[in-house]
Amino acid sequence: MSERPSQKSGSIVWHEGLGREARFAHLGHPGGTIWLTGLSASGKSTIAARLEEVLVARGRHAYRLDGDNIRHGLSNNLGFSAADRAENIRRIGEVARLFADSGSVAIACFISPYREARAMVRHLHDAAALPFLEVFVDTPLAVCEARDPKGLYAKARAGEISDFTGVDAPYETPERPELRLDTTEHDVEACVEACLGLLSERGLV
Ligand code: ADP
Repeated sequence: MSERPSQKSGSIVWHEGLGREARFAHLGHPGGTIWLTGLSASGKSTIAARLEEVLVARGRHAYRLDGDNIRHGLSNNLGFSAADRAENIRRIGEVARLFADSGSVAIACFISPYREARAMVRHLHDAAALPFLEVFVDTPLAVCEARDPKGLYAKARAGEISDFTGVDAPYETPERPELRLDTTEHDVEACVEACLGLLSERGLV
């Protein structure tokens, strides 16, 4: 009687699954990440929410990963120290990469104040050959502080919140973002149009 493979080696099969090229071909488009960075109240969430709405209304799968929402779940054990912020961004970067790989437009809106952390997320995407588009929502601190929609700057100035970006924690401006938005000159719709233009240039819409 000839020797047969063990039950184990005979029954465990490596599943390649659907490859990315096939997935994107079926969907009719590739996936990618658009990453909005800027101070608190600079306008990231407002622009991202409208961008998501426009994309989905056009039938383009898009999903917003937003700072506050993520901190309620995926990162609910993290604070605002430099190490915790870096870990928060690493987790979000991995999730954004997965969404991009699935063919979606991942719209990430996080203060993400450290260059190194943003570079790490870019590297994650580069290594996976997925587009990473960094958008600097460049609203001056004084304007953000005057807007203060959640009253956070007032609390930070009063010492009720510590490690607050722009007040007692740094914000490192992007050196070569794919796009810079000036929300003091352009309204929300114009900022969203600029993002759509960038996505279109890169073949994502
Ligand atoms: P962030 O997500 O960066 O903390 P938010 O989007 O929560 O900022 O808040 C930004 C505030 O600025 C909102 O109240 C928004 O209505 C206002 N705002 C004014 N002009 C703009 C603009 N051009 N783009 C985005 N937000 C703007």
